[in-house]
Amino acid sequence: MAAHGDKARALCGGTDLIIQMRAGVRRPEYVVDLKNIAALRQISFSMQHGLRLGAAVPAIEIHENADMRRYYPGLTEAAHLIGSLQIQSRASVGGNLCNGSPAADTIPALIAVAAKARVIGPQGERLVPVEEFCTAPGRTVLQPDEILIEFQIPTPAPHSSDAYQRFIPRNEMDIAVVGVGAAITLDPADDRCVAARIALGAVGPTPIFAREAAAALVGKRLDEASIDNAARAATAASSPIDDMRGTAEFRRHVVGVLTRRVVKLAAERARVAQSR
Ligand SMILES: Cc1cc2nc3c(=O)[nH]c(=O)nc-3n(C[C@H](O)[C@H](O)[C@H](O)COP(=O)(O)OP(=O)(O)OC[C@H]3O[C@@H](n4cnc5c(N)ncnc54)[C@H](O)[C@@H]3O)c2cc1C
Repeated sequence: MAAHGDKARALCGGTDLIIQMRAGVRRPEYVVDLKNIAALRQISFSMQHGLRLGAAVPAIEIHENADMRRYYPGLTEAAHLIGSLQIQSRASVGGNLCNGSPAADTIPALIAVAAKARVIGPQGERLVPVEEFCTAPGRTVLQPDEILIEFQIPTPAPHSSDAYQRFIPRNEMDIAVVGVGAAITLDPADDRCVAARIALGAVGPTPIFAREAAAALVGKRLDEASIDNAARAATAASSPIDDMRGTAEFRRHVVGVLTRRVVKLAAERARVAQSR
C-alpha cells in the first residue's frame, strides 16, 4: 500500500468496496486483502486488558463470541444488524468504520464503549478515538498507506452496560434512518448514573458523539425527567438532512425516541450486569 499510495485500497469483507468498485465510485488499481493477517482476525478479551477486536473479524464471529455478548451487548447487536447473515459472514467492524458512512451501525456503538482505533502505516502507529475517525461522508483520518489493525476497548466498569438501536423502514437489509448507541454506568447503592456515553448515527455528515446528552444523565437517577433531558440534548446535537429515507424533522423526533430507549435498555442491562 505504501508503494501504490491512493491507487491501492484495503479490503476486509468487500461488502462496501466491491459494490463501490462495480458502481465506479471507487476505482483502485490495487486491492489489498487484509483478511489473512492474524492480528486483524482476533477477538481477545481479559478483565485486565479489556477487548482487542481485530478490524477484519466478520460480524457473525462477533455475535458468536460469548465475551462480546456478555461485556459489549450493544456493540454486538450493532454488528448483528448489518445486512443479512450472508453479509455478516463477510462484513467487518473495521470496514464499517473505514468506509466512513454516517449511517454505519457499529460506529455509534463503538463510540459509546469508548473504542480506540489502532492504525498502522509506514510512519508508525497511532490510536484514534473512534469519535475522531470520520471526517466527512466517506472520508476518514486514514492516510492512503495506513490500515486499521484493531479496536482497543476498555473493560466495562462494574454495573455498566451498553445498547444500540436503529430505525429503518423495514425489518432488515436497510440503512439506518437514525441509530443511537449508549453506554451507562450506575452506582448500585442509589441507582444514580455515574458515567454515560451517547452517540448518534445518520443524523449528520459524520457519526456524532453527543456529550451534552450524556452529561444530562451523570449524577442523576435515570427517571423520566433526566432521560427526557438527555433525549432533548441528543436531538439538539443532531443535524439531519431531508432525504428519501425521512425528513430532518422526522429524524430529530426519532433521535429523541431512540435515545430514551437505548438509555433505558443500557441501564436495565447495567442493573443486572454482575459486579465485575
Ligand atoms: C446488502 C447489504 C446490506 C448492508 N447492510 C448494512 C447495515 O445494515 N448496516 C451497516 O452499517 N452497513 C451495511 N452494509 C454495508 C457494509 O456491509 C458494512 O459497512 C460492512 O461493515 C463493511 O465491512 P467490510 O469488511 O465488508 O468492508 P470493505 O468493503 O472490505 O471495506 C470498506 C471500506 O473500508 C476500507 N477498509 C476496510 N478495512 C480496512 C482496514 N482494516 N484498514 C483500512 N481501510 C479499510 C476499504 O478500503 C473500503 O474503502 C450493507 C451492505 C450490503 C451489501
